[in-house]
Amino acid sequence: MAAPEFQQTVGKIAGFTGTALHTGEKVTLRLHPAPVDHGIKFKRKDLQEEPTIDAKIENLKTVERATTIGEGSVRVHTVEHVLAALSAMGVDNAIVEMDANEPPIGDGSAQAYVDLIRKAGVVAQEELRKFFDARDTMHVESKTGALLVLLPDDKFRISCTQAGPNNKFTQFLSIEVTPSAFEREIAPARTFVYYEDVKPLMDKNLIKGGSLENAIVVRGEAVLSKEPLRFPDEFVRHKILDIIGDLALVGRRIRGHVVAVKPGHASNADLARLVAREQTRRSALAVSRPIPTGDGGLDTDQVMQILPHRFPFLMVDRIISFDTETKCVGVKTVTINEPFFQGHFPGHPVMPGVMQVEAMAQVASILLFKLAKTTSRIGYFMSADEVKFRKPVLPGDTIFIHAELTKSRGERLAKAKCHCVVNDAIVSEAELMFTFLDK
Ligand SMILES: [Zn+2]
Repeated sequence: MAAPEFQQTVGKIAGFTGTALHTGEKVTLRLHPAPVDHGIKFKRKDLQEEPTIDAKIENLKTVERATTIGEGSVRVHTVEHVLAALSAMGVDNAIVEMDANEPPIGDGSAQAYVDLIRKAGVVAQEELRKFFDARDTMHVESKTGALLVLLPDDKFRISCTQAGPNNKFTQFLSIEVTPSAFEREIAPARTFVYYEDVKPLMDKNLIKGGSLENAIVVRGEAVLSKEPLRFPDEFVRHKILDIIGDLALVGRRIRGHVVAVKPGHASNADLARLVAREQTRRSALAVSRPIPTGDGGLDTDQVMQILPHRFPFLMVDRIISFDTETKCVGVKTVTINEPFFQGHFPGHPVMPGVMQVEAMAQVASILLFKLAKTTSRIGYFMSADEVKFRKPVLPGDTIFIHAELTKSRGERLAKAKCHCVVNDAIVSEAELMFTFLDK
C-alpha cells in the first residue's frame, strides 16, 4: 500500500502581471490558498460580484486552440497552462484570481506559473488526496487521428507522440509526471502554432497579444521563435503540458499511464470527460450501508457488512460486546484450516504475529466505522507502534481481540490501543494509527 498523500494548497497569496493572448491587454493573476476539497477555481475579479468558475470538465465550453471553461455567461479562456502547473506541482486547492477573462500568456510555456507557485509555496493540508485509479484500459479516438489511451499504472505517466502536417516534426517522449520532472522537462516548453492556422486570426486581429515572444511559429520547414528551441523536441513536451492541464479538469489526481498519439485539446477533453464519468459511476457504487446499532455485538454477517475483508483475510468472527462508543471486543477462533498454517510452519503451526495485528486493525476499524456511522470510507492503516508478541497462538485457540480508540483528530485520523487475549493471557498488543479515505 502506498503511503497516504495529503492535499496541498499554496502557502500564501502571490501574483504577477502580463499580457492576455487574445485581447493583448494587461492582466494580473493572483493565486490564493483554499481549504481542503475546494479544488481549483478561477475568480473573475473584474466582474461585478466576482464570480468563480470551477475548473471541472462539466464547465468546459470550447477547445479550439485553447481550453475555455465557463458557468452561465462567464468565461475564462486559455486555462490549460496554469492548470497544468498547479496540478503537476501538487497544488490541489487554490483560487486563481484574475482581472480579465484569461491568464497572462507569459512566454507561451508554463514557466511563469511554476515560478509563481514557487513564490507562493506549497503546503500540506489535513485531508487525503483523492485519486482516480485507472483499472481497465480506457480510450478516446477522434476523426482527426488523435488517440488517447489510459492504462493502469501506479504512477501518473504520459507517453506522447506528436506529428505535424505530413508527419513533419514527429517527436516522442515518455515521462512520469512529478513536480521536479515537470519543472525541468515540461514547464519550459512553449506553445507552437502553424503559420497557416494563425494567419487568418492575425488578419482578423483575434490574437492581439500573440507574438514570437509567446509562441513558436512553424512556417513550412522554418521554425520561427524569439529564442532558439529550448529542447530539440520542444513540441511534444508542450503537447504533454497541455494533456496535464486538460486532464486536471477531472478534479482528481490520475494514477495511470496516458498513451497519446497526435493529441489536441479536443481529445484531451474527451478523455477527461470519460474519466470523470467513470469516477461518477464508481462513486455511485460506493453507497454507504447503515451500521447496526445497539450494544449487543455483531454477528458474522453484520461484521461482513462493515468490513470489506473476506476469506482468507477476514480475521474477526464476531464482535461480542461494545463498551460505550470507543471500546469493543471481537473474537476469532483459530482453526488448523487457516491457510497461513500451511506454511507457518509445516509440522509446527503458529499463527503469524502480523495476522494478529491485522485482526486488531479490523476490530479497531469496526469501532471507527460505527463512530462515523458509514462504511463509504476505506480505513488505511498508517502505523503500528509498541507491537509486542508475548505468546504463540496455536490451532484451536480462541482469540479475544480488545480495541479501544484513544485519540482521533477530526474525522480522518484515529489511534487505537489493542490487545489479543487467549486463555486470559495477553498474547499480543499494539498501538495502531488509521486514516480514512472516501471510497
Ligand atoms: Zn498549450
